[in-house]
Amino acid sequence: MPEVTFTDPRGVAIDIPFNRPGQVGNEIRYIQTALESAHISGDGTFSRLCHEFLEREIEVPKALLTTSCTDALEMSAMLLNLKPGDEVIVPAFTFVSCVNAIALRGARPVFADVRPDTLNIDETAIEKLITSSTRAIMVVHYAGVGCEMDTISQLAAAHGLAVIEDNAHGLFGTFRGRQLGTFGSLATLSFHETKNFTCGEGGALLINDQALIEPAEIVREKGTNRSQFFRGQVDKYTWCGLGSSHLPSDILAAYLLAQLQARSEIQAKRQSVWENYSTALDAWAQRSEVRLPFVPAHCTQPYHMFYMLMPSLDLRQKFIGALRDQGIQAVFHYQPLHISPMGRRFGGRVGDCPITEEISDRLVRLPFYNDLTETDQTRVVDAVTAFA
Ligand SMILES: *Cc1c(COP(=O)(O)O)cnc(C)c1O
Repeated sequence: MPEVTFTDPRGVAIDIPFNRPGQVGNEIRYIQTALESAHISGDGTFSRLCHEFLEREIEVPKALLTTSCTDALEMSAMLLNLKPGDEVIVPAFTFVSCVNAIALRGARPVFADVRPDTLNIDETAIEKLITSSTRAIMVVHYAGVGCEMDTISQLAAAHGLAVIEDNAHGLFGTFRGRQLGTFGSLATLSFHETKNFTCGEGGALLINDQALIEPAEIVREKGTNRSQFFRGQVDKYTWCGLGSSHLPSDILAAYLLAQLQARSEIQAKRQSVWENYSTALDAWAQRSEVRLPFVPAHCTQPYHMFYMLMPSLDLRQKFIGALRDQGIQAVFHYQPLHISPMGRRFGGRVGDCPITEEISDRLVRLPFYNDLTETDQTRVVDAVTAFA
Protein backbone atom coordinates (compact mmCIF):
# COMPACT_ATOMS: atom_id res chain seq x y z
CA MET A 1 0.00 0.00 0.00
CA PRO A 2 1.38 3.46 -0.78
CA GLU A 3 1.74 5.64 2.30
CA VAL A 4 -0.69 8.55 2.31
CA THR A 5 0.09 11.89 3.93
CA PHE A 6 -1.80 15.17 3.62
CA THR A 7 0.20 18.15 2.44
CA ASP A 8 -0.75 21.38 0.73
CA PRO A 9 0.66 22.10 -2.76
CA ARG A 10 3.81 23.52 -1.14
CA GLY A 11 4.37 20.29 0.76
CA VAL A 12 3.34 21.74 4.16
CA ALA A 13 1.74 19.13 6.41
CA ILE A 14 -2.00 19.55 6.93
CA ASP A 15 -3.76 18.22 10.03
CA ILE A 16 -7.16 19.61 9.20
CA PRO A 17 -7.71 19.73 5.44
CA PHE A 18 -10.29 21.88 3.72
CA ASN A 19 -12.13 18.78 2.57
CA ARG A 20 -12.05 15.09 3.41
CA PRO A 21 -14.43 12.80 1.54
CA GLY A 22 -16.25 10.55 4.00
CA GLN A 23 -17.65 7.06 3.70
CA VAL A 24 -21.02 6.48 5.29
CA GLY A 25 -21.31 2.72 5.33
CA ASN A 26 -22.50 0.76 2.32
CA GLU A 27 -20.09 2.02 -0.35
CA ILE A 28 -17.76 -1.00 -0.41
CA ARG A 29 -20.59 -3.50 -0.05
CA TYR A 30 -22.47 -1.97 -2.99
CA ILE A 31 -19.32 -1.87 -5.11
CA GLN A 32 -18.80 -5.55 -4.34
CA THR A 33 -22.36 -6.24 -5.48
CA ALA A 34 -21.79 -4.25 -8.67
CA LEU A 35 -18.67 -6.30 -9.38
CA GLU A 36 -20.53 -9.56 -8.76
CA SER A 37 -23.40 -8.47 -11.01
CA ALA A 38 -20.94 -8.45 -13.92
CA HIS A 39 -22.33 -5.13 -15.15
CA ILE A 40 -19.75 -2.46 -14.40
CA SER A 41 -20.22 -0.19 -17.40
CA GLY A 42 -22.83 2.58 -17.30
CA ASP A 43 -26.57 2.31 -16.63
CA GLY A 44 -26.52 -0.88 -14.60
CA THR A 45 -28.70 -1.52 -11.55
CA PHE A 46 -26.95 1.05 -9.34
CA SER A 47 -27.21 3.81 -11.94
CA ARG A 48 -30.92 3.06 -12.27
CA LEU A 49 -31.35 3.20 -8.49
CA CYS A 50 -29.51 6.56 -8.37
CA HIS A 51 -31.75 7.90 -11.14
CA GLU A 52 -34.86 6.75 -9.28
CA PHE A 53 -33.60 8.21 -6.02
CA LEU A 54 -32.91 11.63 -7.55
CA GLU A 55 -36.19 11.69 -9.49
CA ARG A 56 -38.15 10.81 -6.35
CA GLU A 57 -36.33 13.03 -3.85
CA ILE A 58 -35.93 16.14 -6.01
CA GLU A 59 -39.22 15.57 -7.85
CA VAL A 60 -37.81 15.96 -11.36
CA PRO A 61 -39.19 14.10 -14.41
CA LYS A 62 -35.76 12.73 -15.36
CA ALA A 63 -32.31 12.41 -13.78
CA LEU A 64 -29.32 10.97 -15.66
CA LEU A 65 -25.95 10.30 -14.07
CA THR A 66 -22.96 11.81 -15.87
CA THR A 67 -19.23 11.56 -15.30
CA SER A 68 -19.16 15.06 -13.75
CA CYS A 69 -21.11 18.29 -13.38
CA THR A 70 -18.83 19.70 -16.10
CA ASP A 71 -20.08 16.92 -18.34
CA ALA A 72 -23.72 17.69 -17.52
CA LEU A 73 -23.14 21.39 -18.28
CA GLU A 74 -21.61 20.49 -21.65
CA MET A 75 -24.59 18.24 -22.37
CA SER A 76 -26.90 21.13 -21.48
CA ALA A 77 -25.18 23.41 -23.98
CA MET A 78 -25.56 20.73 -26.67
CA LEU A 79 -29.21 20.14 -25.81
CA LEU A 80 -29.98 23.85 -26.15
CA ASN A 81 -28.28 23.71 -29.58
CA LEU A 82 -26.03 26.64 -28.69
CA LYS A 83 -24.08 27.78 -31.72
CA PRO A 84 -21.69 30.56 -32.76
CA GLY A 85 -23.37 33.94 -32.38
CA ASP A 86 -25.52 32.81 -29.44
CA GLU A 87 -25.10 34.39 -26.02
CA VAL A 88 -25.66 32.95 -22.56
CA ILE A 89 -25.82 35.13 -19.45
CA VAL A 90 -23.74 33.69 -16.64
CA PRO A 91 -22.44 35.02 -13.30
CA ALA A 92 -18.84 36.26 -13.39
CA PHE A 93 -18.36 34.57 -10.03
CA THR A 94 -18.62 30.86 -10.78
CA PHE A 95 -16.68 27.75 -11.70
CA VAL A 96 -14.97 27.66 -15.06
CA SER A 97 -17.03 24.69 -16.30
CA CYS A 98 -20.06 26.96 -16.72
CA VAL A 99 -18.35 29.16 -19.29
CA ASN A 100 -16.43 26.35 -20.97
CA ALA A 101 -19.69 24.57 -21.74
CA ILE A 102 -20.91 27.70 -23.54
CA ALA A 103 -17.63 28.49 -25.30
CA LEU A 104 -17.12 24.90 -26.48
CA ARG A 105 -20.22 25.31 -28.67
CA GLY A 106 -18.80 28.51 -30.12
CA ALA A 107 -21.31 30.60 -28.16
CA ARG A 108 -20.45 33.61 -26.03
CA PRO A 109 -20.68 33.87 -22.24
CA VAL A 110 -22.02 37.27 -21.15
CA PHE A 111 -20.97 38.06 -17.62
CA ALA A 112 -23.39 39.33 -14.98
CA ASP A 113 -22.30 40.59 -11.59
CA VAL A 114 -23.43 38.96 -8.34
CA ARG A 115 -25.41 40.20 -5.35
CA PRO A 116 -23.25 41.33 -2.43
CA ASP A 117 -25.34 39.34 0.09
CA THR A 118 -25.74 35.81 -1.36
CA LEU A 119 -22.99 36.11 -4.01
CA ASN A 120 -25.56 34.75 -6.49
CA ILE A 121 -26.19 36.26 -9.92
CA ASP A 122 -27.73 39.72 -9.45
CA GLU A 123 -31.19 39.26 -10.94
CA THR A 124 -31.49 43.03 -11.44
CA ALA A 125 -28.36 43.00 -13.65
CA ILE A 126 -29.73 40.45 -16.13
CA GLU A 127 -32.27 42.34 -18.21
CA LYS A 128 -29.84 44.96 -19.54
CA LEU A 129 -27.56 42.13 -20.77
CA ILE A 130 -30.29 40.52 -22.88
CA THR A 131 -29.89 41.03 -26.65
CA SER A 132 -31.48 39.43 -29.71
CA SER A 133 -28.69 36.80 -29.53
CA THR A 134 -29.36 35.76 -25.92
CA ARG A 135 -30.48 32.14 -25.70
CA ALA A 136 -30.25 31.22 -22.03
CA ILE A 137 -29.55 32.33 -18.47
CA MET A 138 -27.24 30.07 -16.48
CA VAL A 139 -27.58 30.45 -12.71
CA VAL A 140 -25.41 29.04 -9.94
CA HIS A 141 -26.85 28.62 -6.45
CA TYR A 142 -23.70 29.64 -4.60
CA ALA A 143 -23.12 27.70 -1.38
CA GLY A 144 -26.46 26.02 -2.08
CA VAL A 145 -28.43 29.21 -1.39
CA GLY A 146 -31.05 29.77 -4.08
CA CYS A 147 -30.80 32.54 -6.68
CA GLU A 148 -33.85 34.82 -6.98
CA MET A 149 -35.69 32.32 -9.13
CA ASP A 150 -39.07 34.14 -9.23
CA THR A 151 -37.54 37.14 -10.98
CA ILE A 152 -35.18 35.06 -13.13
CA SER A 153 -37.92 32.67 -14.30
CA GLN A 154 -40.18 35.63 -15.17
CA LEU A 155 -37.41 37.33 -17.14
CA ALA A 156 -36.60 34.12 -19.00
CA ALA A 157 -40.25 33.54 -19.89
CA ALA A 158 -40.75 37.14 -21.02
CA HIS A 159 -37.74 36.93 -23.37
CA GLY A 160 -38.14 33.29 -24.46
CA LEU A 161 -34.89 32.17 -22.83
CA ALA A 162 -33.96 28.82 -21.34
CA VAL A 163 -32.73 28.61 -17.75
CA ILE A 164 -29.92 26.24 -16.77
CA GLU A 165 -29.30 25.76 -13.06
CA ASP A 166 -25.79 24.78 -12.04
CA ASN A 167 -26.82 23.16 -8.76
CA ALA A 168 -23.42 21.67 -7.91
CA HIS A 169 -23.67 23.17 -4.41
CA GLY A 170 -27.37 23.06 -3.84
CA LEU A 171 -28.70 19.49 -3.89
CA PHE A 172 -31.67 19.45 -1.42
CA GLY A 173 -31.68 23.23 -0.99
CA THR A 174 -34.99 25.03 -1.52
CA PHE A 175 -36.22 28.43 -2.73
CA ARG A 176 -39.69 29.43 -1.44
CA GLY A 177 -40.28 25.79 -0.56
CA ARG A 178 -39.40 24.49 -4.02
CA GLN A 179 -36.29 22.39 -4.55
CA LEU A 180 -33.31 23.82 -6.37
CA GLY A 181 -32.84 21.98 -9.65
CA THR A 182 -36.56 22.12 -10.49
CA PHE A 183 -36.65 25.68 -11.89
CA GLY A 184 -34.57 25.43 -15.07
CA SER A 185 -35.39 23.39 -18.16
CA LEU A 186 -32.09 21.70 -17.26
CA ALA A 187 -30.12 21.52 -14.01
CA THR A 188 -26.81 19.93 -13.11
CA LEU A 189 -25.38 18.25 -10.01
CA SER A 190 -21.83 17.41 -8.99
CA PHE A 191 -20.65 14.38 -7.07
CA HIS A 192 -17.02 15.49 -6.99
CA GLU A 193 -15.27 14.64 -3.75
CA THR A 194 -15.67 18.22 -2.47
CA LYS A 195 -19.47 18.09 -2.68
CA ASN A 196 -22.00 16.92 -0.03
CA PHE A 197 -22.54 13.59 -1.79
CA THR A 198 -19.74 12.05 -3.79
CA CYS A 199 -18.42 9.14 -5.80
CA GLY A 200 -15.04 10.78 -6.40
CA GLU A 201 -15.89 12.20 -9.81
CA GLY A 202 -19.50 12.24 -10.93
CA GLY A 203 -22.50 14.35 -11.75
CA ALA A 204 -26.06 14.33 -12.99
CA LEU A 205 -28.25 16.11 -15.48
CA LEU A 206 -31.78 16.88 -14.23
CA ILE A 207 -34.32 17.40 -17.00
CA ASN A 208 -37.49 19.35 -16.24
CA ASP A 209 -38.44 20.02 -19.87
CA GLN A 210 -40.07 16.80 -21.08
CA ALA A 211 -39.15 17.61 -24.69
CA LEU A 212 -35.45 17.35 -23.79
CA ILE A 213 -35.56 13.88 -22.19
CA GLU A 214 -35.16 11.82 -25.34
CA PRO A 215 -32.55 14.16 -26.88
CA ALA A 216 -30.60 14.00 -23.58
CA GLU A 217 -30.56 10.21 -23.68
CA ILE A 218 -29.19 10.37 -27.23
CA VAL A 219 -26.48 12.94 -26.46
CA ARG A 220 -25.44 10.90 -23.41
CA GLU A 221 -25.18 7.63 -25.40
CA LYS A 222 -22.73 8.75 -28.11
CA GLY A 223 -25.47 10.22 -30.29
CA THR A 224 -27.39 6.95 -30.51
CA ASN A 225 -30.82 5.74 -29.41
CA ARG A 226 -29.22 2.95 -27.38
CA SER A 227 -31.30 3.83 -24.28
CA GLN A 228 -34.49 3.13 -26.25
CA PHE A 229 -32.95 -0.10 -27.53
CA PHE A 230 -32.21 -1.30 -23.99
CA ARG A 231 -35.81 -0.55 -23.00
CA GLY A 232 -37.00 -2.63 -25.97
CA GLN A 233 -38.57 0.39 -27.69
CA VAL A 234 -36.58 -0.09 -30.91
CA ASP A 235 -35.04 -3.30 -32.28
CA LYS A 236 -31.64 -1.82 -33.13
CA TYR A 237 -29.79 1.34 -32.28
CA THR A 238 -28.02 3.74 -34.56
CA TRP A 239 -26.48 7.20 -34.94
CA CYS A 240 -29.23 9.78 -34.45
CA GLY A 241 -27.40 12.99 -33.60
CA LEU A 242 -24.37 14.50 -31.97
CA GLY A 243 -23.27 13.01 -28.71
CA SER A 244 -20.50 11.63 -26.60
CA SER A 245 -19.96 9.13 -23.78
CA HIS A 246 -21.30 10.67 -20.60
CA LEU A 247 -22.16 7.58 -18.50
CA PRO A 248 -20.26 6.83 -15.31
CA SER A 249 -19.37 3.23 -14.50
CA ASP A 250 -21.88 1.37 -12.34
CA ILE A 251 -19.04 0.93 -9.81
CA LEU A 252 -19.20 4.67 -9.19
CA ALA A 253 -22.99 4.62 -9.15
CA ALA A 254 -22.79 1.93 -6.44
CA TYR A 255 -20.60 4.19 -4.32
CA LEU A 256 -22.92 7.12 -4.95
CA LEU A 257 -26.09 5.24 -4.08
CA ALA A 258 -24.67 4.43 -0.64
CA GLN A 259 -24.03 8.14 -0.13
CA LEU A 260 -27.44 9.25 -1.38
CA GLN A 261 -29.21 6.74 0.83
CA ALA A 262 -27.41 8.28 3.81
CA ARG A 263 -28.94 11.67 2.97
CA SER A 264 -30.30 12.35 6.48
CA GLU A 265 -27.12 11.32 8.26
CA ILE A 266 -24.86 13.33 5.95
CA GLN A 267 -27.04 16.42 6.01
CA ALA A 268 -27.43 16.30 9.81
CA LYS A 269 -23.64 16.18 10.23
CA ARG A 270 -23.13 19.06 7.83
CA GLN A 271 -25.84 21.13 9.47
CA SER A 272 -24.14 20.67 12.80
CA VAL A 273 -20.72 21.70 11.43
CA TRP A 274 -22.23 24.78 9.76
CA GLU A 275 -24.20 25.85 12.83
CA ASN A 276 -21.22 25.35 15.13
CA TYR A 277 -19.14 27.71 12.97
CA SER A 278 -21.94 30.22 12.73
CA THR A 279 -22.49 30.34 16.50
CA ALA A 280 -18.84 30.19 17.51
CA LEU A 281 -17.66 32.87 15.06
CA ASP A 282 -20.49 35.38 15.30
CA ALA A 283 -19.05 37.70 17.95
CA TRP A 284 -15.53 37.54 16.50
CA ALA A 285 -16.85 38.30 13.01
CA GLN A 286 -18.69 41.40 14.23
CA ARG A 287 -15.62 42.63 16.08
CA SER A 288 -13.30 41.98 13.15
CA GLU A 289 -15.60 43.29 10.43
CA VAL A 290 -15.78 39.87 8.82
CA ARG A 291 -19.02 38.91 7.10
CA LEU A 292 -20.43 35.42 7.64
CA PRO A 293 -22.71 33.68 5.10
CA PHE A 294 -26.18 35.13 4.49
CA VAL A 295 -29.18 32.88 3.92
CA PRO A 296 -32.42 34.73 3.06
CA ALA A 297 -35.50 33.65 5.03
CA HIS A 298 -37.16 32.24 1.88
CA CYS A 299 -34.23 29.86 1.20
CA THR A 300 -33.15 26.70 2.98
CA GLN A 301 -29.55 25.73 2.40
CA PRO A 302 -28.09 22.22 2.19
CA TYR A 303 -25.00 23.18 4.26
CA HIS A 304 -22.50 22.88 1.47
CA MET A 305 -19.82 25.32 2.66
CA PHE A 306 -18.88 27.89 5.26
CA TYR A 307 -17.34 30.97 3.72
CA MET A 308 -16.37 34.32 5.21
CA LEU A 309 -15.64 37.69 3.64
CA MET A 310 -12.52 39.21 5.20
CA PRO A 311 -12.08 43.02 5.28
CA SER A 312 -9.37 43.00 2.56
CA LEU A 313 -7.28 40.83 0.24
CA ASP A 314 -4.24 41.46 2.43
CA LEU A 315 -6.03 40.24 5.58
CA ARG A 316 -7.46 37.27 3.67
CA GLN A 317 -3.97 36.16 2.61
CA LYS A 318 -2.58 36.67 6.13
CA PHE A 319 -5.51 34.73 7.54
CA ILE A 320 -4.92 31.77 5.22
CA GLY A 321 -1.21 31.86 6.19
CA ALA A 322 -1.98 32.04 9.92
CA LEU A 323 -4.22 28.98 9.70
CA ARG A 324 -1.71 27.13 7.53
CA ASP A 325 0.93 27.66 10.23
CA GLN A 326 -1.34 25.67 12.52
CA GLY A 327 -1.86 22.85 10.04
CA ILE A 328 -5.31 24.08 9.03
CA GLN A 329 -6.21 24.47 5.38
CA ALA A 330 -8.48 27.40 4.54
CA VAL A 331 -8.95 28.19 0.86
CA PHE A 332 -10.22 30.98 -1.37
CA HIS A 333 -12.59 30.36 -4.26
CA TYR A 334 -13.46 31.47 -7.81
CA GLN A 335 -11.42 34.15 -9.55
CA PRO A 336 -13.53 36.64 -11.56
CA LEU A 337 -14.16 34.99 -14.92
CA HIS A 338 -14.77 38.16 -16.94
CA ILE A 339 -11.18 39.34 -16.38
CA SER A 340 -9.54 35.93 -16.78
CA PRO A 341 -7.45 35.59 -19.97
CA MET A 342 -10.37 33.82 -21.68
CA GLY A 343 -12.99 36.17 -20.23
CA ARG A 344 -11.16 39.13 -21.72
CA ARG A 345 -11.29 37.48 -25.14
CA PHE A 346 -15.06 37.55 -24.75
CA GLY A 347 -14.92 41.28 -24.02
CA GLY A 348 -14.67 41.27 -20.22
CA ARG A 349 -13.07 44.37 -18.65
CA VAL A 350 -12.01 45.37 -15.15
CA GLY A 351 -14.91 47.21 -13.55
CA ASP A 352 -17.65 45.31 -15.45
CA CYS A 353 -18.57 43.26 -12.37
CA PRO A 354 -17.36 45.24 -9.35
CA ILE A 355 -18.94 43.06 -6.66
CA THR A 356 -17.39 39.91 -8.15
CA GLU A 357 -13.99 41.62 -8.37
CA GLU A 358 -14.20 42.75 -4.77
CA ILE A 359 -15.59 39.70 -2.99
CA SER A 360 -13.43 37.14 -4.80
CA ASP A 361 -10.38 38.82 -3.21
CA ARG A 362 -11.87 38.71 0.27
CA LEU A 363 -13.56 35.32 0.36
CA VAL A 364 -12.17 32.40 2.35
CA ARG A 365 -13.67 28.98 3.06
CA LEU A 366 -13.11 27.04 6.28
CA PRO A 367 -12.54 23.27 6.57
CA PHE A 368 -15.93 21.66 6.07
CA TYR A 369 -16.66 17.95 5.80
CA ASN A 370 -19.04 15.37 7.23
CA ASP A 371 -16.58 13.88 9.66
CA LEU A 372 -14.97 17.07 10.95
CA THR A 373 -14.72 16.19 14.65
CA GLU A 374 -15.74 18.58 17.41
CA THR A 375 -12.13 18.69 18.61
CA ASP A 376 -10.84 19.62 15.17
CA GLN A 377 -13.59 22.15 14.64
CA THR A 378 -12.73 23.76 17.98
CA ARG A 379 -9.11 23.98 16.82
CA VAL A 380 -10.26 25.77 13.67
CA VAL A 381 -12.50 28.13 15.64
CA ASP A 382 -9.67 28.90 18.09
CA ALA A 383 -7.27 29.63 15.23
CA VAL A 384 -9.85 31.86 13.53
CA THR A 385 -10.76 33.87 16.62
CA ALA A 386 -7.08 34.26 17.57
CA PHE A 387 -6.67 36.14 14.28
CA ALA A 388 -7.46 39.77 15.07
C1 LIG B 1 -17.83 21.59 -8.45
C2 LIG B 1 -18.53 22.50 -9.40
C3 LIG B 1 -18.64 22.23 -10.76
C4 LIG B 1 -17.90 21.11 -11.44
O1 LIG B 1 -18.21 19.89 -10.92
P1 LIG B 1 -17.42 18.61 -11.49
O2 LIG B 1 -18.33 17.51 -11.06
O3 LIG B 1 -16.10 18.59 -10.80
O4 LIG B 1 -17.32 18.74 -12.94
C5 LIG B 1 -19.39 23.07 -11.55
N1 LIG B 1 -20.00 24.13 -11.05
C6 LIG B 1 -19.92 24.45 -9.74
C7 LIG B 1 -20.64 25.64 -9.23
C8 LIG B 1 -19.15 23.66 -8.88
O5 LIG B 1 -19.03 23.98 -7.60
